[in-house]
Amino acid sequence: QCIGVPKETFPLEKRVATVPDVVEKLIKLGFTVAVESGAGEAANFSDDAYRAAGAQIVDNAAALWAAADIVFKVRPPSSEEVALMREGTTLVDFIWPAQNPELMQQLAAKQATVLAIDCLPRTLSRAQKMDALTSTAGVSGYRAVIEAANAFGRYFNGQITAAGKVPPAKVFIAGAGVAGLAAIGTAANLGAIVRANDTRAEVADQVKSLGGEFVKVDYEEDGAGGGGYAKVMSEGFQAAQRAMYAEQAKDADIIITTALIPGKPAPKLITAEMVQSMKPGSVIVDMAAEQGGNCELTVRDAAVVRHGVTIIGYTDLASRLAKQSSTLYATNLLRLAEELCKAKDGVAVVNMDDDAIRGLTVIKQGEVTWPAPPLKAA
Ligand code: NAD
Repeated sequence: QCIGVPKETFPLEKRVATVPDVVEKLIKLGFTVAVESGAGEAANFSDDAYRAAGAQIVDNAAALWAAADIVFKVRPPSSEEVALMREGTTLVDFIWPAQNPELMQQLAAKQATVLAIDCLPRTLSRAQKMDALTSTAGVSGYRAVIEAANAFGRYFNGQITAAGKVPPAKVFIAGAGVAGLAAIGTAANLGAIVRANDTRAEVADQVKSLGGEFVKVDYEEDGAGGGGYAKVMSEGFQAAQRAMYAEQAKDADIIITTALIPGKPAPKLITAEMVQSMKPGSVIVDMAAEQGGNCELTVRDAAVVRHGVTIIGYTDLASRLAKQSSTLYATNLLRLAEELCKAKDGVAVVNMDDDAIRGLTVIKQGEVTWPAPPLKAA
């Protein structure tokens, strides 16, 4: 079978779903690989590099979708892309079925088989090597700190120099999931004083192990909502949390927010008053901007200055580190391809008896199979 990799068409998207090193490995599994000309350009992978790895370079999107039996992509396909798709194609991609019911219908009408990488059961340890949500969040968390450092007018680390003493920057991280933990590690490595809070008490040790201090909300309620995810907190907790965040906002130079609750708008944690109370020149990076933002003043996909504070609401943080995130994503998809092609004969087999594969298969030959039943072990 031919694995096809189109150039991403979503605005601002620089990533690509496979990289030359991975092409070689896909070919060893027995597949042929076709890559649309220019697909890797924005991530610094040239057509020549893909060609040298054994891929066929295809002139345009129409030819690519026509050639492919299996398509690897990053962003959910647009209607134009679905129109180019052959009947019966297998698509491996971020899909977000709950948010994209129309796309699901269009894909089902194409008799497609769709493996939604965002639906992988993440708690299965066997599935971790395929967990693109984790690799993407890790890159985004790192980049959030780099964006903050770029907008901040001072060092992160404290220094004693002949020109005077420089205090370390204080960074507060709201939400210590995968992205938040990556941000904690990055900011601590740059020498900042890092504090973090999460509604799930279980992350406190992870925060400490990365060099951060866990700041608790003074209210007895745990936020674990199942599967490692958070729940919506009670009014009482939220009031206590706001009081604590108001104190942190006055003290912090940089706030990075990452708090999400599955299927809900992002919790509003940083109010306009908190922004107003921050020191001029402070920076907020709102990693929840795509889900409505954790800060009341965030503008999606923009950096704005409000009350002297730069508020960054970029939703393309992983794409801003396109080479790194593409390489990790390509490796996640390679691990999936290995699972689908155990015989190494270049034919993908979607085994619905395998928990990991069942979880991410949202359409099988035109039949919608999402949502998957709960894991037997869970
Ligand atoms: P996420 O992106 O859904 O949320 C980010 C963080 O925000 C979470 O830690 C959440 O608890 C926190 N949060 C939500 N509401 C909040 C609030 N009001 N105030 C403060 N913080 C709030 O989460 P994620 O990064 O995708 O990770 C979810 C979980 O999945 C984590 O526990 C992670 O360790 C787990 N995970 C497990 C595996 C595995 O077991 N193999 C793999 C990947 C992730």
